[in-house]
Amino acid sequence: MSEHKGVWVFSEKYDLTLEMLRKGREIADKLQTKLTAVFAGHNIKEKAGELIKYGVDKVYLIDNPALERFQAEAYLSVLHNLAANYKPEILLIGSTKNGKSLAARLATRLGTGCVPDCAGLGVNEEGRLIGERITYGGNAVAKVTFRSKPQIATIPARAFEKLEPEDRKGEVIELDVQIEGPKTEVVEIKPLETASVNIEEADVIISCGRGLEKKEDKALLEELAKIVNGHVGNSRPLAEDRKWFTEWVGLSGHKVKPTLYIACGISGVIQHVAGIRDSKTIVAINNDPEAPIFEVADYGVVGDLYEILPALTEALRKQLH
Ligand SMILES: Cc1cc2nc3c(=O)[nH]c(=O)nc-3n(C[C@H](O)[C@H](O)[C@H](O)COP(=O)(O)OP(=O)(O)OC[C@H]3O[C@@H](n4cnc5c(N)ncnc54)[C@H](O)[C@@H]3O)c2cc1C
Repeated sequence: MSEHKGVWVFSEKYDLTLEMLRKGREIADKLQTKLTAVFAGHNIKEKAGELIKYGVDKVYLIDNPALERFQAEAYLSVLHNLAANYKPEILLIGSTKNGKSLAARLATRLGTGCVPDCAGLGVNEEGRLIGERITYGGNAVAKVTFRSKPQIATIPARAFEKLEPEDRKGEVIELDVQIEGPKTEVVEIKPLETASVNIEEADVIISCGRGLEKKEDKALLEELAKIVNGHVGNSRPLAEDRKWFTEWVGLSGHKVKPTLYIACGISGVIQHVAGIRDSKTIVAINNDPEAPIFEVADYGVVGDLYEILPALTEALRKQLH
């Protein structure tokens, strides 16, 4: 019998931790084992107990000034130390930029495998973890399993919804772990001027593509966005080729999940669609009735965005105000 036991969850992002706990709970119940959250940081004691309400049986709390900011070596030493001692069977790590780097380093130290960016997770008949990864530009799902333990998978934000908090029993165990000093140093942190809003969290997104003739015409989308409380996005060529913006929506850009996505003058090539397929409702405005975006759109308007957008804005202004 394997000495590895239990499902663990870790992310330096609190909300992502809560989201992963839902799936972690489901897997732990299936495997009839315990769900543990590794909760590391500085001045975080108050929040540790709260995790129990979201499905955790046990919280390993590591509260140390060296963990104030995410620093790969420091966090790696915490997770490595705990995993080497307590031997979890499954370790789910939040798929942030930091989390992915941490998971890969941890897997190397523990001599085990790591499946990054799992949009879905399951357990097979042998009790082995199956990670589901979107691949081929969103056209296929690769199911990957593990040959070694612990089984480490990283989970992107918003793959799962957090559970409703409820009163449950659980324990918080505070641990003192030896923390490695950093091998790199953060010299400066500057906010990115262009990324004032996080489009991945937006509920309504209005995006433009190469159908937009001039950068200034983005004002048409911004007008509409104001009325529906939305964010404005764009396809990659407006950033990469025309250099009008610095970010874009799609496979190589932001993956979005709004309730409403309005694509204006966007052809709907697979690399764009891969980033919007989790939108609840997609509306496309395009003057080419054959544009592929209409295949994924719930509602399609064949027409010139320069006519449709002002008309739509006006109609909604009357309707909503
Ligand atoms: C590795 C790789 C990764 C990529 N990643 C991404 C990504 O993350 N995101 C992304 O967006 N792209 C990505 N691309 C680029 C992608 O392949 C397409 O080139 C791009 O999505 C096309 O952008 P578009 O729809 O704005 O432009 P086009 O394909 O040129 O489409 C413009 C559309 O606007 C319509 N149109 C024109 N004028 C009007 C008008 N007045 N009114 C209404 N409609 C009008 C046209 O009919 C057309 O359908 C990637 C490519 C590669 C190779």
